[in-house]
Amino acid sequence: MTKLKKYQQKRKFTKTSEPKGKIGKARKTELIYVIQKHWASHLHWDLRLEWQGVLMSWAIPKEPKNDSTKRLAVQTEDHPLEYADFEGQIPEGEYGAGKVKIWDNGIWIPEDIKKEKIVFELKGKKLKGRFALIRFKTKERTQAKNWLFFKLKK
Ligand code: MN
Repeated sequence: MTKLKKYQQKRKFTKTSEPKGKIGKARKTELIYVIQKHWASHLHWDLRLEWQGVLMSWAIPKEPKNDSTKRLAVQTEDHPLEYADFEGQIPEGEYGAGKVKIWDNGIWIPEDIKKEKIVFELKGKKLKGRFALIRFKTKERTQAKNWLFFKLKK
């Protein structure tokens, strides 16, 4: 099961213009950061961070802020690197149907990456500075999909 299996299983690439994608090379510099605003059944912002050849992804139900406002971020399936450039309309009846538009992008610099906590710098146009993603504590922590996303006070 490759990292993109879930992503590919959810979509019909004959119907949607989203990229089918393949796993890219792991890179250590200039890692892609993007947030796509997605008018699906519920409006949300998709945070994606390049990591080990794919885009780790989280759906954020409320607009992210460039301050310490905490936002729920629900981890979703890894996406292909090419998805970082995707904008368009996912057709009615397809997975994630609705408009997708790039809301912010740039690069991210990992500072600390653990299973339950990611600290990093964002160099975007809207979001800039040190941010954290903290996984909710549950009995089976590694299974938890819910994270908090927020900017760190220096
Ligand atoms: Mn989405």
